[in-house]
Parts: sequence; C-alpha cells; structure tokens
Amino acid sequence: MTATAQRSRIQQLWEHWILDIPLLQLVVAVLLGGLGNQLYPYAGEGARGALCDETAHLMTTLLVLNLLPKEWRRKILVPALPASVLIDVDHVPLAIFHTHFLTWGTDRPYTHSLLTVAVALAIAALCSIRWPKVGFVWLGIAIGLSLHFFRDLGESDASGVPLLWPFSYRSFNYGHATFDTIMVIVVAANFLLWWIRASRS
Ligand SMILES: [Zn+2]
Repeated sequence: MTATAQRSRIQQLWEHWILDIPLLQLVVAVLLGGLGNQLYPYAGEGARGALCDETAHLMTTLLVLNLLPKEWRRKILVPALPASVLIDVDHVPLAIFHTHFLTWGTDRPYTHSLLTVAVALAIAALCSIRWPKVGFVWLGIAIGLSLHFFRDLGESDASGVPLLWPFSYRSFNYGHATFDTIMVIVVAANFLLWWIRASRS
C-alpha cells in the first residue's frame, strides 16, 4: 500500500470511527471514560492511576466535543484530544524528579492555569490571519486544555487547579458530584444526538 493510500485509509477510519460517531464508539467512549473516572481514586499515584486519569480525560474531551457539529470537530478534534492529555506532562518534575519548581504553593503545576489557555488562544488568533489551518490547530489545543482543567477542577481527590496563576496561587475546585452530573447530561445529550443523526440518514 502506498503512503497516499495508507493516509486515505487512516482518514476513512477516522471519519467512520470518530467523526461519524457510530453507536459502538459512543458506548466504548462512555464505558472507558466512566471506568477511568470511577477507578482513578483507587488506582494510586503510579502508572495505573495515570492510565485511569488520562483515559477519563481523553474520553471527557471526546464526549463533550461530540456535541459540536461535524465540521467543527473535523477542525479541532485532532489537536484537542492529545492536548487534553499531554498537559499532564507538567506533573513529571514532581512525580519523577521530586522537585517542586512548578508546584510551590499550588496543588497542581503552574501550567494548569488559564494563562496557558490564553497563550494558546493568542497563538490561534495570530496564526488565523495568515494560516487559518494552523489557527484551528491552536484553537483545538486551547479547547483540549480547557476540557482538561474542567475535569481536574472536579476530580475526586479534591485537589485544586491554580487557574489564576501567576496572579494568585489559590487552587480552585468544585465537587466531584457536580462533574459526574455534568457528564451524565453530556452522555445523555450524546445518545440523543446520535439518535437524531441516525434517524435523519
Ligand atoms: Zn491535570
């Protein structure tokens, strides 16, 4: 298979399995997200905990963005999904090297701040003037980061997110039950949308 044929095959799979949101994909996303979210508090701080946490982050982003029109998802889903997971690389200095240089006085690293989202949005705005496609990539990154913070803010361990760093070291959070309730609504909306789209086609 040539490289072009391979790329178009991957594109077809992406269109069919992710962008068209078949029922199977929805069910798998809900199960994986729910499992990751529920098991995370019991999985500990190591690799198992990270796997549960990041799976829940990835599925949260997927399920929330599934609610957008397909043309929007086509532009932002590819950058948003990895961004919603990779931001947690900023935990490495503390988790592996036991250094607090990103976490002095806060529950999570300083990069878990609205400033990071603002920087991504500023780059998106600048790029959109000359390179609209790159602008959408950065918009997707900003959205993926925002959805990551949305889940971190409602995580079950009650640790917070330094949203206003560097202006404030306060770590913000809200109740885990609120996060669960919002996600139940998101999941219900996903199934409703799937049903509407399927009955139209
Ligand atoms: Zn995080």
